[in-house]
Amino acid sequence: MATKFGDKLMYIGGEFCESESGEWMDSVNPATEEVHGRVPKGTAGDVDRAVKAAAAAQIEWRQKSVWERGALIRKLADAIIARTDEIVELEAADTGNTIASLSNDMMLAKGYLTMMAGLGIEMKGDTVPATAENIHFTMREPYGVVGRIVPFNHPFLFAAAHLAAPLIAGNAVVLKSPDQSPLSATLMAEICHEVLPPGIVNIVHGEGLVVGDAIVRHPLVPRIGFTGSVPTGLAIQRAAAETGIKHLSLELGGKNPFIAFPDADPDAVAKAAVGGMNFNWSGQSCGSTSRLMLHESLYDEVVEKIVAAVSSIKLGDPLDHSSGMGPVNSAGHYRHVTSFFESSEKDGATLLTGGKRPEGKQFEKGYWVEPTVYGDVTMDMRVAREEIFGPILSIMKWSDTDEVIDMANDLDLGLTAAVWTNDLNTAMNTIRRLESGLVWVNGTGRHYMGTGFMGWKNSGLGREECLEEVHSYTRSKSVHIIL
Ligand code: NAP
Repeated sequence: MATKFGDKLMYIGGEFCESESGEWMDSVNPATEEVHGRVPKGTAGDVDRAVKAAAAAQIEWRQKSVWERGALIRKLADAIIARTDEIVELEAADTGNTIASLSNDMMLAKGYLTMMAGLGIEMKGDTVPATAENIHFTMREPYGVVGRIVPFNHPFLFAAAHLAAPLIAGNAVVLKSPDQSPLSATLMAEICHEVLPPGIVNIVHGEGLVVGDAIVRHPLVPRIGFTGSVPTGLAIQRAAAETGIKHLSLELGGKNPFIAFPDADPDAVAKAAVGGMNFNWSGQSCGSTSRLMLHESLYDEVVEKIVAAVSSIKLGDPLDHSSGMGPVNSAGHYRHVTSFFESSEKDGATLLTGGKRPEGKQFEKGYWVEPTVYGDVTMDMRVAREEIFGPILSIMKWSDTDEVIDMANDLDLGLTAAVWTNDLNTAMNTIRRLESGLVWVNGTGRHYMGTGFMGWKNSGLGREECLEEVHSYTRSKSVHIIL
C-alpha cells in the first residue's frame, strides 16, 4: 500500500537497507490514525551488523583531528537547516507536535552540533607533577562504538543532537529510533550519508525490547546514552550490568514542581505556568513543570488566569501553523494520559478545564485530549505523583515554606524546578533546598546550552548539553614517561 511518506529504511555501514527479518512496522499519524509510512523492523542481527560497521569505521574516524571531525559535524548542522521545511512537515505528521514549534527543534539541533564541534579542543587531559624526574599526564580517548537510544517526543532533534558529543569525541554511533515516531531518523541518516564517511553513524529501527536491548547488550558497545522513561532506564541498567562493565548516561522522566511565592506577579506566574507545560508538545516534554504550587494568597487569581489561557488553546492539525496543540503521540500513550481523568476524579481533584476528548468531527479519529487543569490537588493523589507526560497540569495550594519544599521534594524524581519570587533570599534558600538537577528562577522551559541538563534522583545519571557530555564520551588514560 502506498503511503504519504513511504518506506524509510535503516542505515547501516553507509547503506540504506531493510531488516534481515523482512518485516516492517507501520508508523501512524496520531492526528488521523492513518498509516503514513513504515520502517523495517530491526533484529539483534541488524544491530550486530550496525555495531560491526561502526567499529570498523571508527578506526579512521578517531584518527582525524578534532578540527576535521568538527568541520564535518558543522556540515551536518548546515544540512539540517537546508532541509528544515521537509523535516518539520514529516515530524509534525509523525509525532503530533505542532509545526509552528518544530522549526525551533531544527535550530536547537544546529546549536548542539555546532557547540559540540567547538568543544572538541576542550577534550584535555592533565599534567601531574607526580615525581620530580618523570612526566605524568592523562589523555582522553574515545570508547569506540556508542549506542544512543531516543524517545518519541523530539525524535529528529534527539537523532541529530545526540550524535554530536560522541562524534566529536571520536566515537562511531549506532542510534535506535523510537517505534512510535521513527520516520525522521531516516532523514537524519540521509543527511549523515551526504556528509560523513560510511559506518560512522548507523540508524536501526525496531522495538525497544529487541533492538534497544541488543544495542545495550552488544559486547562492542561499552558506552550507552539513553533518553526515555525511568522504567526503561532501570531495564537498561540491568541489561548493561548483566553483560559487561558499561558506561551509561540516563536522561529520564520528571514530575517537576513550579513554586510561586506570594510576592510573584500573578500575571507573569499564570503565563509562565502555561508556557512551562509545553502544550504545543501536548505536554510531552520531560522538563514540563506539571506540578504548580501556588501560595494561597495567589491561588484564586492565578487559577482563573490559567484556566482562561488553557481553555483557549487551539487544538488542531499539527501541520496547521495556527494550531496551539496537536494530539498525543500514540494510542498507548492516549490510554495512559486519559487514565488520569478517572483517577483524578476518584482522588478528589477539582477539574477546572479539559478532562476529556475534544468534541467535533475533526477529533473523531486520532489521539486527541483536551488541555487539562486540575485544582485542589494534594501530594497523595496519583495526578501529583506519577509522570503523565501529557497535557495535564496539577495545581496545589500552600501556606508554609517548609511544607511546599517538602511537597516539591516528595517524589523520587528530580529533573527541573521553577521558583517564582522577586526576593533574592527566598530564591537562594529555595534553590539550595530543591532536589532537582535544574532550577529556573522566574523562568521555565528553556535549556541554556553549555550549562548542562541532568536529572537528580531517579531522573537521571550524567550531564548533557555541556562540556561534561563531551568528556563523558571519552575515557581517561594515565601516562608515565620515565626519563
Ligand atoms: P521509553 O518508553 O522509555 O522509550 C525510550 C526509548 O527506549 C525508545 O526508543 C524505546 O523503544 C526504547 N526502549 C524501550 N525498552 C527498551 C529496552 N528494554 N532496552 C533498550 N531500549 C528500550 O520512553 P518514551 O515513552 O519514548 O519517552 C517518554 C519518556 O522519556 C518520559 O519519561 C520522558 O520524561 C523521558 N524523556 C526524558 C528526557 C530527558 O532529557 N530527561 C527527554 C525526553 C524524554 P520503543 O520506542 O521501540 O519502545
